[in-house]
Amino acid sequence: MQDWDSPIDSGVVPEDGSIFDVIVVGGGPGGSATAAYMAMDGAKVLLLEKAVYPRDKTCGDAVGGKSLKHVEELGVKTALEQTNHFRVDGIIFGAPNGKEVRISLPEDEVENREAGYSLPRKQFDTVLFSNANEKVLKAGGAVIQNFAVKEVHIEGGVVTGISGLHEKNSYHFKAPLTIGAGGYNCPVARAVVDHHDEPMVDKKHYCAAYREYWTGVEGCEDWQGAIEIHFIDGVVPGYFWIFPVGNGVVNVGIGMVIAEMDKRKTKLRGLQDWVINEDPKFSKRFANAKMVEKSGKGWQLPFGSPRKKAPSFQPRRAAMAGAMCVGDAASLVDPFTGEGIGNALLSAKLASTVYDREKHSEGFSSDSASEYQNMLWGELSVELTNSYKLQRLVKKKSLMNFFIGKAVKKVELQRALTDMIASKEAQGQFHSKWWMIKTLLF
Ligand SMILES: Cc1cc2nc3c(=O)[nH]c(=O)nc-3n(C[C@H](O)[C@H](O)[C@H](O)COP(=O)(O)OP(=O)(O)OC[C@H]3O[C@@H](n4cnc5c(N)ncnc54)[C@H](O)[C@@H]3O)c2cc1C
Repeated sequence: MQDWDSPIDSGVVPEDGSIFDVIVVGGGPGGSATAAYMAMDGAKVLLLEKAVYPRDKTCGDAVGGKSLKHVEELGVKTALEQTNHFRVDGIIFGAPNGKEVRISLPEDEVENREAGYSLPRKQFDTVLFSNANEKVLKAGGAVIQNFAVKEVHIEGGVVTGISGLHEKNSYHFKAPLTIGAGGYNCPVARAVVDHHDEPMVDKKHYCAAYREYWTGVEGCEDWQGAIEIHFIDGVVPGYFWIFPVGNGVVNVGIGMVIAEMDKRKTKLRGLQDWVINEDPKFSKRFANAKMVEKSGKGWQLPFGSPRKKAPSFQPRRAAMAGAMCVGDAASLVDPFTGEGIGNALLSAKLASTVYDREKHSEGFSSDSASEYQNMLWGELSVELTNSYKLQRLVKKKSLMNFFIGKAVKKVELQRALTDMIASKEAQGQFHSKWWMIKTLLF
């Protein structure tokens, strides 16, 4: 069994004032993957993480096929599979009228372990961080845990490094390139948008979510099965999820776009209590269940949905001279499913593709920043735009009832939904009016 539960030795803290090829701020999936990819290319990386591993991260814990491709490329798929995990082989969608349809993931992908897992982020992130730690140290870089970046230095319109605190001591480090991977409130992302006088938060594209761990939830006893997404009357336009993570433990939560929460003056924790205790269907399934103590936590998800009037780049500016942002720091969470790990890993890969150690040794130009930004949106615009359309579609309760009612009966629609989940591009047909009419009516 892979050891993911012990402290990670990050070695010696470098001297104040040290210079690196790249500084990575944040050691979640996005930061760990960027640091590992760049160290694999020979860069001298400084990886800075505020927490001390192993650490928890508030999440639904579903790791999809897109993430697994990168996990494999980073060389840790086997290590990950050696930790306890739930194998996802389908998704159950529940309509506001209570009807449910189970969409199977492609059988060959499940068999080849490419479809998806759900497992506590404490495990997933520790495996990725441990891998980055090893690769960065091997390539001559440094890693500091319990290091909070407080300031991003900008000279003449170029990010030149950071300063922050470790065990009450202040440090300043420099590099021609700084990566913002500090999540939804990343200081590098804030510096990038502030520098261009553009907004960081747009409440129509930021989601709040609340999760708890439970044991004893009916129908969640196995190590393989479906994860569940329910559009419950009273919760729509948000959704309620039930994601087993194995060993009889279940990640249960609710998410809603912040602008919608403000409109309804809703509190997610109260809403979740109501679903678990009062909803006729779910109160039965939770009748003998027990919440894991102190597991209730809320967090924010910066969606990658296209902004109506983006001040410059979509979904928002994620790079400038001397800096690129990845993952939540670049606002890349899928606006329909709430998945952000896959795009955190993908953006890490793209950032490492744009970065060239020799070319950028004297500086990372604003042209290189634009190259990254364009590559990011070029890669993600279709699926993020489609997901945003789906997010808006599920707000309409009667349409959801009709659609899921049809999907229960029509195998062709189930197959199309399987394709859609396996390949985001296939979502395109959901926006073809003729396809919709044909499939739903005949
Ligand atoms: C309730 C909830 C449910 C979700 N469910 C899913 C799901 O099921 N599947 C999925 O794919 N995605 C899900 N997401 C989204 C997913 O959690 C994120 O998209 C993903 O964690 C992004 O990874 P990241 O590396 O960009 O950022 P993070 O995971 O947030 O990592 C950022 C890291 O930076 C560190 N950091 C922050 N500030 C600083 C600083 N100043 N100095 C140094 N370090 C710093 C943090 O400690 C952290 O380790 C969910 C999110 C929420 C809130």
